[in-house]
Amino acid sequence: GADEALLSVADCSVSYGKVSALRNADLRVDRGEFVALIGPNGAGKSTLANTVSGFLPYEGSVAYAGREVRECRPRDLVQDGLIHCTEKRDLFGFMSVEDNLELGAYRHGRDADERLAFVYDLFPALEERTEQEANTMSGGEQQMLAIGRALMGDPQLLVLDEPTLGLAPVVLQDISDGIDRIREEGVTVLLCEQNVTFALKHADRIYLLENGEVVREGTPDTLRGDDHVRESYLGG
Ligand code: ATP
Repeated sequence: GADEALLSVADCSVSYGKVSALRNADLRVDRGEFVALIGPNGAGKSTLANTVSGFLPYEGSVAYAGREVRECRPRDLVQDGLIHCTEKRDLFGFMSVEDNLELGAYRHGRDADERLAFVYDLFPALEERTEQEANTMSGGEQQMLAIGRALMGDPQLLVLDEPTLGLAPVVLQDISDGIDRIREEGVTVLLCEQNVTFALKHADRIYLLENGEVVREGTPDTLRGDDHVRESYLGG
């Protein structure tokens, strides 16, 4: 039922001044589910991600773990396991890989060794670079670090905004493998992704956003069989 949802977005609208970026959106993510939000540039994916994390004012309802997000401070949402890996990655550029990772675990105090081992196992490229400054790493390595840092926070809900952005195919494969493992671990994920093929490959359920509106919802198979999705996003 609706009250089992870890994240429940209902009739949610967001505007930037006169620009309406999200219109009456409905979306839910149940515990253990991997949900993807797809859509073209400017569809409102990041807006939804940022709204869920409490960064933006909104109309309607956004409930995380049963609490209305507008009534929570972002730091309390983080404390409750809502961890957001932003499109910009927001790494601490002049800090080392390992320091970035350890900061991701701050809500757990010093008890982070097991998660650090998991992240290094997930992305061996990070373990080879523990002392390297984040801003000297390649785009793909920085994306691994951003995802790794998010995992260090032991997310109850991991919001991943455009992890594939600007990545070459070979790096994409590493990220894809990492995301498979995250899914196997049973982490609940909301993936915002312009790369539809990537999203269809990983998600249990998909929402398609266009011009701020949810226009389709379904399993990857349902969306693959949808004429509009095929023609507009899968090359016919
Ligand atoms: P992209 O993948 O290109 O980031 P997106 O689907 O994530 O696209 P959003 O970034 O959420 O889309 O943008 C949705 C709409 O809101 C766009 O028209 C964008 O120009 C607008 N918008 C986003 N952020 C702001 C802002 N801070 N101020 C004004 N308008 C904004």
